[in-house]
Amino acid sequence: MEKEQTEIDILSLSCDELTREILAMGEKTFRAKQIYEWLHVKKISDFSQMSNISVQLRERLSKKFCIKSLKIKKRLVSDLDNTVKYLYGLPDGQAVETVLMEYKHGNSLCISTQVGCKMGCRFCASAIAGFVRNLEPSEMLLQIYETERDSGRQVDSIVLMGIGEPLDNFDNVMKFLSLLNSGGEGMSLRHISLSTCGIVERIYELAELRTGLTLSVSLHAATDEKRSAIMPVNRRYGLEELMTACREYFAKTGRRISFEYSLIEGVNDTEQSARELIELLGGMNCHVNLIPINEIRERDYKKSRYVESFRRRLTSAGINATVRRTLGADINAACGQLRRDEASDR
Ligand code: SAH
Repeated sequence: MEKEQTEIDILSLSCDELTREILAMGEKTFRAKQIYEWLHVKKISDFSQMSNISVQLRERLSKKFCIKSLKIKKRLVSDLDNTVKYLYGLPDGQAVETVLMEYKHGNSLCISTQVGCKMGCRFCASAIAGFVRNLEPSEMLLQIYETERDSGRQVDSIVLMGIGEPLDNFDNVMKFLSLLNSGGEGMSLRHISLSTCGIVERIYELAELRTGLTLSVSLHAATDEKRSAIMPVNRRYGLEELMTACREYFAKTGRRISFEYSLIEGVNDTEQSARELIELLGGMNCHVNLIPINEIRERDYKKSRYVESFRRRLTSAGINATVRRTLGADINAACGQLRRDEASDR
């Protein structure tokens, strides 16, 4: 049965917020701690599993709060590299994607932050159907909890690079990060990367918070003309403004920025484009992540054949650049594709 909207989403509450709610019900602080542990350490999905809480209180809790959960709508496992891609159904019937990737240093989980996206990047599958809604902090946490439960693998690091623009859902993403840090996962924010298309005022805000996370900026072109043609956000925040914010981020946090650059044949992969990128980033303490573009059905952008020579040009100009390993190639792990496929199957 669908839970009523009026119930409080208990997994989105911080320990302090939960404590205030529990005290207001006439209970003691230690009860709140017990409940928080059931939710975020033992990760139970129903109040009836809280065996050290009285039946009467469990009943009162289930009237006031709901414990959200995700449904696995699809699970694709790569035969090549153990990458697992999930399509998770949300309580309201929407769906998002989550990808578990295995690296030498541990398991990394790519999570979604919104259902759809407003940013409209031309090459991105998530942008095509537009924006539906923000994810709640609980819905971001559950992507981790459910993936760990289903795969039996521990998640060691998180990348906010799934569907959505994390800085366009700023408050919920920050709340999620603090739950991740203080809850059962106890994950240091040094193990988190947040990827943005470049919402400048939020980059400044993030710098002030000094969270320790790694900021990735989706650059994809080094002149305003080229960037605006593939990323509409560039018309709102041009490159000069964006680069000033990036330099400020580094100055405030001491964390170097990672720039993402997806190489598209004939669009941003020429020798001229490499020169423009060198000019833009020269002298900056940063890293460039080169990604062969994932071709999507709805657009005719093609993978560049010059990824390696582009990388060599950057490194010989003193710019730190690596080519991102393609994972899950056989299960089409490119973001947004699975959700799109499901929508068109209906
Ligand atoms: N909205 C955020 C995070 C989600 S997208 C952002 O823009 O950074 C994660 C990364 O994948 C971004 O760098 C994005 O530009 C890139 N991306 C999107 N579609 C892609 C595609 N078809 N091929 C390669 N990279 C893509």
